[in-house]
Order: sequence, then structure tokens, then C-alpha cells
Amino acid sequence: AQDRDTRVILPGATLGVLGGGQLGRMFAQTAQAMGYFTAVLDKDETSPAGLVSHHHIRSGYEDPQGLAELARLCAAVTTEFENVPAGSLNRLAESLPVSPAGSAVAIAQDRAAEKAHFVKCSVPCAPYAVIETPGQLAAVNDVLLPGIVKTARMGYDGKGQVRVTTREELNTAWEQLGRVPCVLEKMLPLALECSVIVARGRDGTIVNLPVQRNLHRDGILAVTEVYAGNLPATQVEKAIAAARSVAIGLDYVGVLCVEFFVLTDGMLVVNEIAPRPHNSGHYSQNACDVSQFELQVRCMTNLPLTQPRQHSPSIMLNLLGDLWFKNSSEARSPAWDQVLALPGCALHLYGKHDAKRARKMGHLNITGATPEAVRATALKAAAILG
Ligand code: ADP
Ligand code: MG
Repeated sequence: AQDRDTRVILPGATLGVLGGGQLGRMFAQTAQAMGYFTAVLDKDETSPAGLVSHHHIRSGYEDPQGLAELARLCAAVTTEFENVPAGSLNRLAESLPVSPAGSAVAIAQDRAAEKAHFVKCSVPCAPYAVIETPGQLAAVNDVLLPGIVKTARMGYDGKGQVRVTTREELNTAWEQLGRVPCVLEKMLPLALECSVIVARGRDGTIVNLPVQRNLHRDGILAVTEVYAGNLPATQVEKAIAAARSVAIGLDYVGVLCVEFFVLTDGMLVVNEIAPRPHNSGHYSQNACDVSQFELQVRCMTNLPLTQPRQHSPSIMLNLLGDLWFKNSSEARSPAWDQVLALPGCALHLYGKHDAKRARKMGHLNITGATPEAVRATALKAAAILG
């Protein structure tokens, strides 16, 4: 298995991805640009990745036949969907190289395990308590209030979270969330949020994209800004070092995103990890010499990992379905012709047929010669869209 896993898989081979969302679509498109064939496993007929892939296996993540078909077609497999059952990754790993490993994905899928991993790596995270039983609920220390109750599993884009200030609210919140395993996190005073994408190869080589500054709206990423002077140098260094140790601690192979909070007193705190390319790394498609999706391809094929170089200051604007409902209750395409008249705008749309509020439809990567130029263009684009 060792030989099999460290062999270079050259273009011409078929690469598989579990999950048919936009991350899988951009992975497939990147792999194809490099000369690979692609296979997507997702039961949705019109999944964004399935629509652009050479092969589309329409099965659930746990369907043994679907998984066997994927293994038969592919030289290596990766994932784009965080909640793909770790058992399916383990099963595939019996017959072909799989990255990231099921064991790492299992930790990222469970906030309690994830936080325990941060503690193990000595990377500071928010003070927290695990709540799985009424006894643990009753034993919660008051210093964690006000706080946020988060379901341990399946949360994303702010879903599965309730903010609480009192013990009564905490008790009600746990009831509301269906008494499923949760973590309670102390509410921290945030100055800003940032994230780091790292990529680690099977030989332990590790590289990172520059630290991204993220702005969320209603729990969903809205804007990512990446340019010099955007963040204090000490925090940039700390965030990169912390992200690397989190990846090394997991013996991680693949692309990993590590999200951080910077607190009002300047302290850096890790928030969560995603075992795949991340929305906050999309700017790398147009602003870096190697994108996060190419890093994913290189990791899974054992191609060399070179340290990415950002060649342009960049701002990414997320394009949510809300933009399609600007002046009417019926969905209407935003004025792309006006947006694309601005210099340095790269439009990425995911091929989703129905625009819905809060649904991620695409993103706009803006690059320019200077941060000021990029900011000016982003303001103009936002004015046209919003
Ligand atoms: P998701 O999986 O939905 O992205 P996160 O844990 O990243 O969940 O929380 C979503 C957002 O909520 C964060 O980006 C941050 O803005 C806010 N948030 C989460 N935890 C805390 C906290 N402990 N203190 C303050 N704000 C928080
Ligand atoms: Mg998050």
C-alpha cells in the first residue's frame, strides 16, 4: 500500500471526488485543465460538479456499488464535502489512495474532537464545554456565558448554532437543538476573522497560501481580502505556524483550511477546520500562481508542492442567490456585463439552476496592481450587484 500511495499519478489518469458541489466542480475543472479525467460521486442529477465531470456516479455516499464504481474508475480519490461519511473514505482507501484520510475528516466533522485536537496541538481555541448529557449541561461553568451552543456535527454557514446569555437560555437551546451532542463556546470579542489554507503531501511537504481576511454576513462568508498590510505581521506568522501544526498533528494529506479569530486584545484563537478547499481560498484561482484546487490535485497525485506565490492583491466577493432577487420576487441574473466592464474581475459561477436566498451561486475574484485599486473595483462591483 505504501508504494501505491507514494507513486506519482500522471495526467491522463482519472481522479475522483466525493461530493458534487461547487468545490468539487472547481476541483474537476482544475484537474481537467492539467490533463486528468474526473469522476464525481453525488446522487444529485444536476450537481455543479457532476455537470462538468467526465464521469458522474449518481449514488449516495454510502452506496457500496457507487463506491466500488468510483474505485474502479479512479487512480485516486479526494472529497469536497465535509460530511461525507469517514467510513466511505476508509472503504475506498482499501483499494486506492484517498486524501484526506477518513481519520482526519472524522475529526473535522465533530466539533468536540476538533477542539480536543487543537488542545493537543497547543493551538489556543475558545474556552468550551462538551454537552452530550443532562449532567454535562448542568455542570457547565458560568464563565462560558454568554456563549454559543453549536451542534457537534453537521453545522455550516452558521446553521446549528444558538447564542445564549443565561443558563435558562442554554437549557432551552439544547432542547431546541434536539439534545444532540453539542459544544458550548464562550462568546469572544472578535476584532477580525482570518483563515489559512495549507496543503500537505504524503511525504510531509507542507505549503500554505497567504493569510486571508474574512468578513461574514449572517454567518455566511461574504468577502475575503488578501493583500499586504491587511493584517498585522505577527498575527500572520502565528496563524501560518498554527495552521501548519494543526495539519501536521493530523498527519494530514491534502488541502486543509484553518479558520481563526483575532480578538480585540490581539490574541489569535483557532475557530474550526475544513478538510478540503475553502470558500475563503477562492481568490487563489486568480491571484496566485497555484490555486487551492491545483494544490488538491497535486496532493492526491503526489506531484510536487511548491510554495504558492500571490502575484496580485485580491478581493473575493461571494455571490449569494439574494443578488438574483434585487428588484423583483422573480429570479433575474445580475448585470454581469456591467460587472465585467470593470478591470480585473473574474466571474466564477457554479451552474446552479435555481437562485435561492443564502445559496452560494458563485464568486467574483478581483485583482489589481495595488490594494487601493482592488478596493475601488470591489466597491464599484458591489454597487452594481447590490
Ligand atoms: P460554521 O461552521 O457555520 O462556519 P463557525 O463556528 O465558524 O460555524 O461560526 C460561524 C461564525 O460565528 C464565525 O465565523 C464567527 O463570526 C461567529 N462565531 C463563532 N464562534 C464564535 C465565538 N466563540 N465567539 C464569537 N463569535 C463566534
Ligand atoms: Mg466557520
